[in-house]
Amino acid sequence: GSDIGSQKERVVTEEEWLQKWEMGNIGFHKEQGHPLLQKYLDVLLNGRSGLRIFFPLCGKAVEMKWLADMGHSVVGVEVSEQAVKEFFSEHSLPYCEEPVPEISGAKMFQSTSGNISLYCCSIYDLSSSIVGKFDGVWDRGALVAVNPCDRQRYASLMINLVEKNSSYLLVTVSYDPNKHKGPPFYVPESEIQSLFGNCCEIKCLEKVDDFSERHRQWGLDYFLEVLYKLKFVA
Ligand code: SAH
Repeated sequence: GSDIGSQKERVVTEEEWLQKWEMGNIGFHKEQGHPLLQKYLDVLLNGRSGLRIFFPLCGKAVEMKWLADMGHSVVGVEVSEQAVKEFFSEHSLPYCEEPVPEISGAKMFQSTSGNISLYCCSIYDLSSSIVGKFDGVWDRGALVAVNPCDRQRYASLMINLVEKNSSYLLVTVSYDPNKHKGPPFYVPESEIQSLFGNCCEIKCLEKVDDFSERHRQWGLDYFLEVLYKLKFVA
């Protein structure tokens, strides 16, 4: 069904996200990277090299290093400075840190080699005039972490940040939203259609069972990951 139940009203503040990082409450982080990106990398790249790839709400996703090593240029945005610093230190990547003149209080952390730039600020502070446009997007733990009331705003921003003909891989989760308050939030397929359907072709590539002990402790009895490819057409 497409009922998101009581999740519609739920708000997680930036402060709460910072606390999760401080407490090490980061069960979403995948140390080995995400198997669906490995499997569908070709779909994201589509034979192209030297892409600009965006990681919204990036955390310390290890795939950023992986794609940069393949010669792509990676840009992420993450509200937690701790997450950003852990990313660079866990991969032993030297970096520099500079203010972002257009965004008060924001900092940009860039690998010394120049191919990974992580903005430490809220995604809602970004625009294409600040970060440019992207050829590819890896959205995992991002749309599903956005407060349900902000989804429209998030989707409009993402649509603005992609080049025509870019490919956008989106991972959502599916479970009974009456049994867990989120995040991650349940995002039904009908909502993907209403958020992005006007601007792109949407294809569901795979649904995988991702149920684990963690989800059982949340009170759930099933948990799926759903991978979509959004193809932004001219
Ligand atoms: N995509 C990552 C992290 C998922 S958890 C992964 O797959 O591992 C969601 C992340 O979004 C958290 O690290 C949180 O600190 C960050 N976040 C939450 N709200 C944000 C916002 N408005 N702008 C930028 N980052 C945000």
